[in-house]
Amino acid sequence: MYDIGIVGGGTAGMTAAIYGQRAGKKTIIIEGGAFGGQITSSPNVENYPGIASVSGSEFSMNLLDQATKLGAETKTEQVTGIREENGTKIIVTAENEYPCRSVILATGVTHRHLGVPGEERLTGAGVSYCATCDGMFFRGREVAVVGGGSTALQDAEFLSGYCSNVYLIHRRDEFRGEDNIVKRLEKKENVEFILSATVKEIAGENMVEKLILNHKKTGKESELPVAGVFIAVGQIPKNDAFADIVRLDGNGFILASEDCMTSHPGIFAAGDCRTKEVRQLTTAAADGAVAALAACKYIAE
Ligand code: NAP
Repeated sequence: MYDIGIVGGGTAGMTAAIYGQRAGKKTIIIEGGAFGGQITSSPNVENYPGIASVSGSEFSMNLLDQATKLGAETKTEQVTGIREENGTKIIVTAENEYPCRSVILATGVTHRHLGVPGEERLTGAGVSYCATCDGMFFRGREVAVVGGGSTALQDAEFLSGYCSNVYLIHRRDEFRGEDNIVKRLEKKENVEFILSATVKEIAGENMVEKLILNHKKTGKESELPVAGVFIAVGQIPKNDAFADIVRLDGNGFILASEDCMTSHPGIFAAGDCRTKEVRQLTTAAADGAVAALAACKYIAE
């Protein structure tokens, strides 16, 4: 029997394990893929307080090292569901079942991909899903942002502070995101909107060199030379396996507020997988701590 079973080995999950172990609780982290989560794909993290610069992979390996040295157990297994039996929460994987007194869901999100040629091959070589992580690498260069939601608008605004030109490419001629940011972007000389356009291909030999665009209204194609492309077409949570035990919102995020409590007593949600406004490394770490301490309190009650 584990005191705290953590589903997901990203920043939120591993921080929860550190707090759980330090509180003397028997903790296990079950991760379906590689430990580290989203941040591992960031070449350089420069916005984590107290650490001026670190690669995402080093950051996450340090976290894993810290959690396991404190005694957290780890398993690489795909969690398929959770059920409750006589007050015990059973984490079910394809291979095993793990009885736990409390559970922290820290499953993160995945960025929605465009699914166009060149996207996967050039990820990390000019294709990025995180402007705040990677924008600095494109100082003085021309870049594109794809998407029309608040994330894309904020990314374009952020990048306009570093890049010579920012092209904001959106598939419709109306933005989904906040109008006040659109108005601010309209005033910027180095931001250009390319509307009713979709990306057909991301091209470049070893690095992104250009985008091939489809213009819906004219039916024509064009080429846009850029050094980087920031894809902000939404995020997809991965919570289907838990929909029968915790409540999700309409977009599939786990309903939980800043106390990380879900609709099911003893099951907590931490990090990007839960309903929240700001999805950052710092807020994932903060949630990990909050959820672990809430789990400790729940076990003691
Ligand atoms: P989002 O609101 O879902 O917007 C995704 C955008 O990508 C939409 O404009 C959509 O176009 C476009 N898109 C989706 N699939 C596409 C595809 N295959 N090809 C081209 N374009 C595609 O996602 P988000 O901007 O990441 O925001 C997620 C949530 O976080 C939203 O609720 C948002 O309000 C919130 N958020 C809040 C803040 C804040 O400061 N409060 C900041 C960022 C995000 P269509 O418009 O045509 O569907």
